[in-house]
Amino acid sequence: MPSHLKRCMKCKQYTIAEEKCNFCGEALEKTDPPRFSLEDKYQQYRIPYFKEKMQKKFKILD
Ligand SMILES: [Zn+2]
Repeated sequence: MPSHLKRCMKCKQYTIAEEKCNFCGEALEKTDPPRFSLEDKYQQYRIPYFKEKMQKKFKILD
C-alpha cells in the first residue's frame, strides 16, 4: 500500500489524488500507515530487547 494513499472523507474511496476525491470531489484524509505486524516482524529475530519493548507496548503475554 503506497504511503501517499488517501481516502475520501465522504465516499470512503481510496485514491492517490492529492487534494480532491476522484469520485465525488470531496476533501481527502490521510490514511494510516500500512499496518504490518511488529509482532510478526520481530518474532523471527527474537531479540530480547525488542521482545520486551513489544510486550510492554502491546501487553503481549508469552
Ligand atoms: Zn469521494
